[in-house]
Amino acid sequence: MSETLTVPEVETTAPEPGPKRLFIKTYGCQMNVYDSERMADVLRPLGYAPTDTAENADFIILNTCHIREKAAEKVYSELGKLRLMKEARAAAGAGAMTIAVAGCVAQAEGEEIMRRQPAVDIVVGPQAYHQLPELLTRTARARGERIGADFAPHEKFDAMPAVRGVEGPAAFLTVQEGCDKFCSFCVVPYTRGAEWSRPVADVLAEARGLAEQGVREVTLLGQNVNAYDGAGPDGAVWTLAKLARALAGAPGIDRIRYTTSHPNDMSDDLIAAHGELEALMPYLHLPVQSGSDRILRAMNRKHGRAKYIDLIGRVREARPDIAISGDFIIGFPGETDRDFEDTMGLVREVGYASAFSFLYSPRPGTPAATMGVQVPADVALARLHALQALLLEQQSAFNRAQAGRTLDVLFEKKGRHGRQAIGRSPYLQSVHVEDADHLIGRIVPVRIEHGQQNSLKGRLADTSLKQPRSASAASGNQNGA
Ligand code: SAM
Ligand code: SF4
Repeated sequence: MSETLTVPEVETTAPEPGPKRLFIKTYGCQMNVYDSERMADVLRPLGYAPTDTAENADFIILNTCHIREKAAEKVYSELGKLRLMKEARAAAGAGAMTIAVAGCVAQAEGEEIMRRQPAVDIVVGPQAYHQLPELLTRTARARGERIGADFAPHEKFDAMPAVRGVEGPAAFLTVQEGCDKFCSFCVVPYTRGAEWSRPVADVLAEARGLAEQGVREVTLLGQNVNAYDGAGPDGAVWTLAKLARALAGAPGIDRIRYTTSHPNDMSDDLIAAHGELEALMPYLHLPVQSGSDRILRAMNRKHGRAKYIDLIGRVREARPDIAISGDFIIGFPGETDRDFEDTMGLVREVGYASAFSFLYSPRPGTPAATMGVQVPADVALARLHALQALLLEQQSAFNRAQAGRTLDVLFEKKGRHGRQAIGRSPYLQSVHVEDADHLIGRIVPVRIEHGQQNSLKGRLADTSLKQPRSASAASGNQNGA
């Protein structure tokens, strides 16, 4: 909810350097020597430790100098030798070698280097060294490898016992891990590694197991859940929309949610699924972080304000009543009053049903931590309070607007008073209903009497669901509404 003032639970400790070896050959001035050290620094969290020889290196960077005329030719000749080394290594089955050209030659010649010497994987100019982890991850992904975490997620999932002892009728189901996006403020790509999706068969098997234990609603989890690209049983890569369609037909699973999504992975088929699948709940958590294009660029979000607003419009076209939620970061380095006003304007334009908002917190090792001017704490806090007041106003209005409607509620647990039960509306609102504890585990229509800031109150809409006060209340998880 938007009253959240704290920074979310994101890990701050980078993994220890792994066995991967980094060789940097530095040409030219002291500035290049300094830059080479910084490049080693940004790669350390991904498990790269410096080595003295190119022969056994997993990643080789030529940090070049353009000061003399023959510099570029010297680089091409060096690259020719590295290409032979790379081929020999591949032939010996010793794993892939990644080659990058950095420095002034990279800046001056750009993509031409890759055209002339295809063994080069990455060309990066001096202003973009902070992007090396992202570029390296992209290269590895193109080869079908995974960089960044010192564990293989499939091993983790394989080693975990089947889910047992689920409490209540709503459960989480992890389908995706890691992130390739490298937002400049975020540690997740360093701590969780690159994007990886669980195979479809494993996800469906886990969902079946959950349904057998009385689960009616699954929330598919992932750092970038809508980037899901799991291997399907048909040999094809399945999108999140395709996975949702399969789950929607799974016996016992009546409701599907997913979180958290990135705007750039909000595909047409996922948007269409919101209009087509009854089981896909009308709720979308789509973080935007800022309403200012300037700040979005500095955040390396790779989308602008207009794209986000357009996406929301298309999602609402597919599912007009959908509840929109988001994440916001306030006080990002360099954020001006004008940038903040752009964020407030975006919130007014979108209209949120709920939201999370955070004060920017510098994370060591991320590019934003060393970016220009940090916003003074009192200014950032005042902005956060103004944003949260607006978001809470919108949340209250959304909740109040449910009064008089009949909503399907999945009852999850007993409430604090008497035979009260608490459930969730399709829009993820908490709904409190008296004399309903015999309905825990079931989805039943509830007439909403009024909406408050954080919850709704209602009464059972169908008289056949009412149970006399004298009857036994403790019926536990019941299936089959
Ligand atoms: N992958 C999701 C996305 O891009 O929207 C979110 C994952 S992140 C763990 C959850 C939220 O934490 C982000 O959306 C962002 O608002 C917030 N967050 C991440 N790093 C932060 C930082 N350094 N300071 C403040 N908030 C941060
Ligand atoms: Fe972090 Fe951005 Fe990845 Fe979300 S998309 S986990 S905010 S880097």
